[in-house]
Amino acid sequence: MTKSPVRRTRFIDPFQPAEIRRLVKEFGSPLLILDCERVRVQFRKLRKALPGVDLHYALKPMPHPSVVHTVIAEGGFLDLATTGEVQLVERLGVAPERCIHTHPIKREQDILNAMKFGVRTFVADNPDEVRKFARHGASAELLLRVSFRSPGAVCDLSRKFGCDPEDLLALARLAADLGIGVRGLSFHVGSQAMDSAKHVEALHACAKLMAAARREKLGAFDTLDIGGGFPIDYAQPVQDISRFCAPLRTALAKLPQRVRVIAEPGRYIVGPSAIGVASVMGRARREGHWWYYLDDGLYGSYSGQLYDHARYPVEPLRDSAERLPSVLAGPTCDSIDVIAENLMLPELKAGDLIVGRAMGAYTWASASEFNFFPKATVVAVNGKPGDTGSVTAFPL
Ligand SMILES: *Cc1c(COP(=O)(O)O)cnc(C)c1O
Repeated sequence: MTKSPVRRTRFIDPFQPAEIRRLVKEFGSPLLILDCERVRVQFRKLRKALPGVDLHYALKPMPHPSVVHTVIAEGGFLDLATTGEVQLVERLGVAPERCIHTHPIKREQDILNAMKFGVRTFVADNPDEVRKFARHGASAELLLRVSFRSPGAVCDLSRKFGCDPEDLLALARLAADLGIGVRGLSFHVGSQAMDSAKHVEALHACAKLMAAARREKLGAFDTLDIGGGFPIDYAQPVQDISRFCAPLRTALAKLPQRVRVIAEPGRYIVGPSAIGVASVMGRARREGHWWYYLDDGLYGSYSGQLYDHARYPVEPLRDSAERLPSVLAGPTCDSIDVIAENLMLPELKAGDLIVGRAMGAYTWASASEFNFFPKATVVAVNGKPGDTGSVTAFPL
């Protein structure tokens, strides 16, 4: 037996201190360094943890072209929710058959824009929204989103969207009466779930509802979309993805063969794939502590600390044995703009770099330019297979 040679791709680790410094020199500060190789690793880990499930990357946490290209090159699919996201992937030349549109509430124009691009599958969760599809006949099909409350999740997404399980069959009957094809059901139990108990519970409930709808001949009901919510390590570590998904795999194995299962991971794909790099703009001693003012903060990449309730592990790039309790503040003139207090840091000076880990999801995406401090430049590295050292700054 001949051993096949190990193929080594020369791949630059952009999270290494020397690379971070080099990228800041080239692109300035603040940066969000996005490593497409890590996107690939995350995608493959989730695919292995959920065999047979089609992964539709949800663009919302990091709508960056390099992530879209990387996911598509891995054989993945996309989950779009807005006209802006439709326009982005259209511009990138993505095949519309690889996309679904999952916003439960859409303007007529959003539906038309997505359909013009070629998207066929949409989500609805109430009678008014279902009726919007009556005029589109066979050119659109629906997933009906069901709500399963998840008070345990960091972000409960089932309060704002989804129909009560008790109302689902009535909604399916309405769609059938209007001649609208229903492909199946979807749910999203909430982001950064602690464990998969809620996913499993929702999956069982949906399997029963789909069987009941099929018995009534209300539509195909052969697709189940289990949403996103797959967790990642922040300051607090979580279960690894294979363990998280183990109960889900057991539940999935019991579904009828013909049911196609899809998922909509967002955070899991991009969260660990980027770091934030900010510079100290200046410092002051206040009440016996050093305050360091960075060029990125709560109105920028650290906005996830407010909107997403995340706590990113932050560390200075330059280390030193002696550490003092210190404050890291953002650049704006607003007093709420403080990233962390009582952080043990070496004494820093203007120009020193601060690195935030696990900052790919819901960070840059929700940043603003309040006080005219520009959003971090996204630098995507290792973008195309074979082109391992490539770097693209965004917006181009
Ligand atoms: C935000 C969102 C996702 C992604 O959720 P994650 O928790 O980041 O995986 C998936 N689907 C829908 C409909 C969403 O709104």
